[in-house]
Amino acid sequence: MRKFNHVFASILFLFAAVSFAQEEGQQEREPGHYNQSKFKQLYEEFATPNTYRSASGAPGPDYYQQQADYKMDIRLDDKNAKIYGEETITYTNNSPDDLEYLWVQLDQNVRAKDSKAPLRNGGGVPMAEQPSSFASKYMGEPFDGGFNIEYVKDASGKALPYTINFTMMRVDLPSPLKSGAQYSFKVKWNYNIPDHTVNRARSGYEYFPKDGNRAYVIAQFFPRMAVYNDVEGWQNHQFWGSGEFALPFGNYEVNITVPADHVLDGTGELQNRKEVFTKEMLKRYEKAKKSYDKPVVIVTQEEAEAAEKGFSEKTKTWKLKAENVRDFAFATSRKFIWDMQAVKMGDRDVMAVSLYPKEGNPLWEEYSTKVVAHTLKSYSSHTFDYPYPKAISVHAKNQGMEYPMICWNYGRPNEDGTYSDRVKYGMISVIIHEVGHNFFPMIVNSDERQWGWMDEGLDTFMQYMAEQEFGEAYPEAIAPNAKYPSRRGDPAKIVPYMSGDQSTIAPIMSNPENVYQLGANAYGKPATALNILRETVMGRELFDHAFKTYAQRWKFKHPTPEDFFRTMEDASAVDLDYFWRGWFYTTDYVDIGVKGIKKYYVSDKPTKKMREYLAARNMTEADLPPLVYLADEESEDFDTNLKGKAPSENSKTLKEFMMDNMTAAERAAVKEPKYFYEVTYEKPGGIPMPLIVEYTYADGTVKNITYPAEIWRKNDKEVKLVVSSTSELKSIVVDPKMETADIDTTNNSWPRKESQSDFDKFKENIKGQ
Ligand SMILES: [Zn+2]
Repeated sequence: MRKFNHVFASILFLFAAVSFAQEEGQQEREPGHYNQSKFKQLYEEFATPNTYRSASGAPGPDYYQQQADYKMDIRLDDKNAKIYGEETITYTNNSPDDLEYLWVQLDQNVRAKDSKAPLRNGGGVPMAEQPSSFASKYMGEPFDGGFNIEYVKDASGKALPYTINFTMMRVDLPSPLKSGAQYSFKVKWNYNIPDHTVNRARSGYEYFPKDGNRAYVIAQFFPRMAVYNDVEGWQNHQFWGSGEFALPFGNYEVNITVPADHVLDGTGELQNRKEVFTKEMLKRYEKAKKSYDKPVVIVTQEEAEAAEKGFSEKTKTWKLKAENVRDFAFATSRKFIWDMQAVKMGDRDVMAVSLYPKEGNPLWEEYSTKVVAHTLKSYSSHTFDYPYPKAISVHAKNQGMEYPMICWNYGRPNEDGTYSDRVKYGMISVIIHEVGHNFFPMIVNSDERQWGWMDEGLDTFMQYMAEQEFGEAYPEAIAPNAKYPSRRGDPAKIVPYMSGDQSTIAPIMSNPENVYQLGANAYGKPATALNILRETVMGRELFDHAFKTYAQRWKFKHPTPEDFFRTMEDASAVDLDYFWRGWFYTTDYVDIGVKGIKKYYVSDKPTKKMREYLAARNMTEADLPPLVYLADEESEDFDTNLKGKAPSENSKTLKEFMMDNMTAAERAAVKEPKYFYEVTYEKPGGIPMPLIVEYTYADGTVKNITYPAEIWRKNDKEVKLVVSSTSELKSIVVDPKMETADIDTTNNSWPRKESQSDFDKFKENIKGQ
């Protein structure tokens, strides 16, 4: 192409002017539109990076975190449902600051008689209530919960002054705790254990009237150190009930004394197995450690049923030790059946464990431990190898709650042992979810009190992948030829929420106490956003690498939202500021459609629009270099002879250009499109997303093009694209696979389809069967 550059340069100069004029005419912009650009970088929303947290999203050179180690003696009074504890907290101040006081969390105080938590809701009379919640609210005395603090003392036994403000206790130090120094103090406490089936308490007991036993799932049961860091100072935002927990890492040595006929498991490794296991249990345990394909029962249903009748007056002390955990929880009862199996994790073995009363069977013996093992493998493959020695799933009525190495899960069959698919899938899903929380937030230790989505959203996203993988790994466990029926994660599932009443939607970047519809806000929407990011915006390879980078950078550390947002960009080179802004900082939704289409043909003659443009500048056609024009089929000066001809047939200048600049071989290889279309796409929704289009042509070919989200960067409302083809365009479908959570699909096709009513779809389905 010899003369190409010279000729092209002169044309280009004028074209630039013409194109700009055209763009100017098409775009209607609001004054100051640039300040509202959805593609503006998030400098105003993000905290400025510093030496603690780098701009890359990684921990900075001065990153630090505090450590809180606990030694505790715990005693359960089963008869009175009361718990007693004595603990020594050793707190290490790794921050550069000297601390005048320490903040300790007293979460049980949310259930104190004088708690303000039940008084903070102004929503009026609800449509319906659980009988237990109704009884506790309106009938009789409120439950007498909350910590009784017997003392707070220093290591030498001298009383320390303290102030309790609701769920927070400030312990005043005799002299500031210097940067780098360590301080030990003791707290003695007790409280009445609540019935966790009332008011959805996160921990407590369930009473079984038929045999008179309780099953305990015990958590938030000891005064715990608050987090102190570079972001919040002390994270002493009160525990009101919705915003979960913020906790520092530490090492735990916990001795728990329970009735001698109870079995118990909890966070950490059992230190005195020979003292608390029978010989038979020890033998079975040795077998379980080598069983990689199925669980081995440690306590059988028969043995558990026999134990239910015992009510021993004697006690046993179970000694547990855990390293580098952010919390501690345990479950105990004489009702528990116990099974476990080994899971290979790199060159280590991890135990997958389940505890359940007979009321959980036959569902629990079939699925629980299998699902725990599957979850550890699935999550590890997307993040890092599960680092703890075990993961326990405990059956507790109506519970779904997570702690390091242990979690409570629902899913109870009917009394006759039958169960619906809903109960089965609900149980499998909740176990995946709660075991999955070991990764987020137990190990990647985000601040749940402030950001519910950082653990719930990431975990629900991972849950979706693990569920789909479970369906593939155990096809016999789900319906034939079906996908696992995930409740959240598929883009279409979030549409009812995102298209709902704006006055009951808050941005994801909100405190969990202040949002409406917490489930959709902190679980469903962020999970869906990440799923779309992985499948549609970034692609699996870039996403998976970036997500793994985030998990590995922040395991056993405390990340913030920016650390996540920054890392996902830093590791992928995908500018995601528009995506974070739209999905996480606003309540906008996705709605993209095709608005109109116009046909054009190639011509030698300037169009009316061009002639007007020249006239306005006192120019004529003679002032122009030879140009190729596209003539609008609907315009008044359109020449019907142009129709259906190749561009070189209609344009002398183009023909000459080809003769002068191309070899015969090049000319022969040129594919001349006969059809030109200007397609207008509209975007009524606030969130910019890639424009995914399926073009179908008269010759039967189908072409899929994904235009990047950046197509909306200069005009947020509509864009006009030129489409050229050798065959006539028959139809256009936007987002044909419904992968963007587009809330209104009535504008997604050209020619417009009459939207099918749900009834029509139903009729069609019936016909198909
Ligand atoms: Zn959760």
